[in-house]
This record gives sequence, structure tokens and C-alpha cells, in this order.
Amino acid sequence: MSAEPAAPSSGAATVAVRADIARARRIVVKVGSSSVSGDAAHQIEPLVDALAGAHARGAEVVLVSSGAIATGMPHLRLDSRPADLATQQAAAAVGQNLLIYRYQQSLRRHAIVAGQVLLTAGDMADATPRSNAQRAMGRLLELGILPIVNENDTVATQEIRFGDNDRLAALVSELVGADVLVLLSDVDALYTRPPHEPGAVRIDDVPHGDDLAGVTFGDAGAAGVGTGGAGTKVAAARYAAAAGTPVLVTSTANVAAALAGAEVGTFFSAAPGA
Ligand code: GLU
Repeated sequence: MSAEPAAPSSGAATVAVRADIARARRIVVKVGSSSVSGDAAHQIEPLVDALAGAHARGAEVVLVSSGAIATGMPHLRLDSRPADLATQQAAAAVGQNLLIYRYQQSLRRHAIVAGQVLLTAGDMADATPRSNAQRAMGRLLELGILPIVNENDTVATQEIRFGDNDRLAALVSELVGADVLVLLSDVDALYTRPPHEPGAVRIDDVPHGDDLAGVTFGDAGAAGVGTGGAGTKVAAARYAAAAGTPVLVTSTANVAAALAGAEVGTFFSAAPGA
């Protein structure tokens, strides 16, 4: 893992257990399309309140938010996620600024300024744009700005088709040297099988090295507006944990509890010494 923290660390903040999240200095929170668009757009306000609470106690907070395509869809008179790439990109171009506007309107209640950061997986893999992004993110955090990251959908052809922001969030966590990554979805935790199926058991903790043998996670988002699912969350959580960042997977409704260190969600411990 080659990431340098984006700015000088503002203090040691090892997150070994959930309760430590309440003291984490640098936090990346990822939210999915189905939590912040359409009928769920009202969740932006409580999400922002939780982020603002962490910001108020001095934490540096980065939000990775999907939802550009889903937010743009009604403006293109689309009832469902478009299948073709060009229309997805058009919807993202329309929806991204509206999404950021909604976040900024909500953050204004807490006197917090948002900074929009659009990245591609290609940027993160290429040393020069990666270091540019790292420097910009570090400066934004030093300035007390709350960066809101999404994929740069109009140029991210592969990502928009096959990618998901869970992976982007893990890469951003590595980029900024986050103390913890919180992956939010519509489900309160990971389960041993789809949670509506009989016999599904909640997974509370994933110690480093536990490969969750025998558990199969689906990839499709239930709401059909995004692309992520439990499988992409597990892959992203493993990546971040191997790079030294512990991960909590829980629901958007639980975000305030998660940031307060409550016993919610599924917690992936980081690799020791990573
Ligand atoms: N960047 C896409 C958006 O904001 C991601 C959607 C997805 O998760 O598939 O709409």
C-alpha cells in the first residue's frame, strides 16, 4: 500500500473496537444511491447532522456519496436506471450538482462548507493525479471543509458500468489515511445469507484474517438505483482493512449511532501494523 496520509495526522486514533470510532480523527463515510435519492432524499438531513456532529468534535470527515445518476433520473424523465452508458452519464451530469446542492443546503445549517471531489479509479491508479487528489484532499481537511467525493461519471466508463462507490470509498480511505471507514446501505449489518431469508445470522465482527468462509454475498443493490451490494461492501472492507483502516458496515439510519461508537453493524478489524 503506497498511500501517504493526505495531511499531517492530527493525533493518534487507533480504532480497534467500535467504541473507538467516537474518538476517530479522520473518518470516511460512504453512502449509496438508494439512501439519498428519490423517496430517500429526506435521509440527507439526518446523515448530514451525524457528519456535522463528528465535525463539531474536531474529526475530519470525508463523505463518499453515490446518487448522481439516481438524482438526475427524474430530470431526464426516467423511471428506472438507464441501461446505456451515455444516458447514465447524462443523468449523472444532471444529478451530481443537484446532489451537492442538497448536501450544501443541509450542511449550511451547521456552518459547514462542502468541497466537491470527482475521481476515477484510473486517477487513483496513476501516480500524478493520485498525488494531486491527495494534496487537494489534505488541504480541504486542513481548511475544515467537508469533501464530498463521487466518481467522475462522465469520464469513468468502466466504473460507471461495473464499479461501485464502495471500492472508491476504500481507495479514498487509503488515500487520506482514514482512521475508520463507515460503509452505509439500507441494511443494518452483513448477514450470513440475504437478511430476508430464514436462517440469516448477523455478522457482528470480522477479525483480521477471517475470510468469512462459506458465506456468499450478493452484489445487486435491492433498490435498483445503484450498483453495490453486500458483496461489494465485503470486498471494499477487506481492501481497506488490509491497508490499515478498520471498517464498519451498517445502515444509513444507524449513522449517528455508528459515529458515536455504538454496537451497531458489522466491524472489520484492520490488519495489525498495516
Ligand atoms: N457514481 C454513480 C452515481 O453517483 C454511482 C452509482 C452506483 O453506485 O452505481 O450515481
